[in-house]
Amino acid sequence: MNSTFIEVAYLVATGLFIFSLKWMNTPRTARRGVLSGVIAMLVAVGGTLLDPGILAGNYKWIALAIVLGTVFGVPLSWVPLTAVPQRTALSHAFGGLAAGLVGVAEFYTSFGEHGQGFTPFRIGALCLEVLLGFLTFTGSLMAAGKLQELKFIPSRPVVYRGQNLINFTLLGLAVLCCALLVANPERFQFLFPAVIALALTFGVLLILPIGGADMPTVISLLNSYAGLSAVAMGFVMDNKLLITAGALDGSSGLILSIIMCKAMNRSFANVLFGAFGQVQTSAGHAEARTVKSASPKDAVEILENASFVVIVPGYGMAVAQAQHRVREIYDELTERGITVKFAIHPVAGRMPGHMNVLLAEAEIPYEDLVEMDDINPDMSQCDVCLVIGANDVVNPAARNNKSSPIYGMPIIDADKAKTVLAIKRSMNPGFAGIENDLYFADQTLMVFGDAKAVTGEMARALAGEDGPGH
Ligand code: NDP
Repeated sequence: MNSTFIEVAYLVATGLFIFSLKWMNTPRTARRGVLSGVIAMLVAVGGTLLDPGILAGNYKWIALAIVLGTVFGVPLSWVPLTAVPQRTALSHAFGGLAAGLVGVAEFYTSFGEHGQGFTPFRIGALCLEVLLGFLTFTGSLMAAGKLQELKFIPSRPVVYRGQNLINFTLLGLAVLCCALLVANPERFQFLFPAVIALALTFGVLLILPIGGADMPTVISLLNSYAGLSAVAMGFVMDNKLLITAGALDGSSGLILSIIMCKAMNRSFANVLFGAFGQVQTSAGHAEARTVKSASPKDAVEILENASFVVIVPGYGMAVAQAQHRVREIYDELTERGITVKFAIHPVAGRMPGHMNVLLAEAEIPYEDLVEMDDINPDMSQCDVCLVIGANDVVNPAARNNKSSPIYGMPIIDADKAKTVLAIKRSMNPGFAGIENDLYFADQTLMVFGDAKAVTGEMARALAGEDGPGH
């Protein structure tokens, strides 16, 4: 009876996990997706605790784990939205560590209690679990450190001669140890700690040559490794829920990394080994050119005379938390009969969906958020393109300059608009560290200042509080 109940709980949890992923596909249903994922996890944990073999005698340890998890987990949810990528990496690190430790416990208790409890399949799955779990642990910690720009972990790619050879040799050695363990677990028992050490080292070395800009793609790849590690753990422990949930985690992480690679027009190999972000342009070139600037009030006058405005939000809007002021500008312009659309680049900001989340928070209607591929054909009809704290995602070098590190990355064609108004604090580059020709173009006016301050001033001017002509 109990076991049927557990099976049903696992089935319900799996179904809810699948719906959760489905609902997270669009901002409209994303909240429902999160809720469904939370309920699925509760059902899964509840179902597992019903197993008499798990709770009996262990409840004190389980209670302690729940308390510790809550003590560390709740503060982790308080990070600002801009720090969510590194927070996500930390979650993957814990997931990988958990899978790795379960594997270690299984390995040693199987030898201790039952003499030799391993079929070749089971020891193979266990080796995979430990390998992926521990490399995800150190790899994700490195990724979190790079994104947080910790002093002792350079966010730039760290490259050296023979790097790929060293990395692949380490991985090859780990796989060889695993193969020997599968062939004869008894005899090669002593190699198990070597698999752990090699996996931990490989995780660090794998992330070293990858630059901060590629980190989100790598984080979702590490997410898929953690998922695969859970699948292997499911086979080792004969737990179907771990297999299905791990497979969902593994495949969704992989699909997300593919989508992000496509959005940046990069291959996996290029992300993992391309050392993107290493190239820096010469500063002298930037100093030689001049730009035109305008005040927020000038910008408002230009906007009031437009009939089609496209707003391109970027990382700077997120940092400044300017989305509510942007909403006020949107309201004022649409009330005047001006068509206003938001152009959403898939990698604007610092995580997938970053702009959607912020604009949804400001309650901008979903139908006015237009994906890059859908807005680009209309950009030549756009009277004013208002770029708010975006840089790389509107850099025409991605289209025109073959030597640029972002060459080939699809961009929003802001340069095709009749007038471009760009709000940012200085002429500093964006994440890729390169100059943006758009800001030197004839039709571009820079509106210098913090995005929240500038958009606030523009919103007030539009509302007639101190605006031109009022
Ligand atoms: P960028 O990082 O290219 O540019 C952001 C710009 O915002 C900067 O040039 C900065 O200029 C400006 N800015 C910063 N703070 C403020 C502020 N308070 N007020 C006004 N402006 C500000 O951002 P994009 O969104 O255009 O591009 C995202 C980049 O990040 C891409 O290279 C992408 O590949 C990468 N990336 C994307 C991830 C994702 O999943 N979305 C994850 C990680 C990286 P200034 O200092 O002069 O103000």
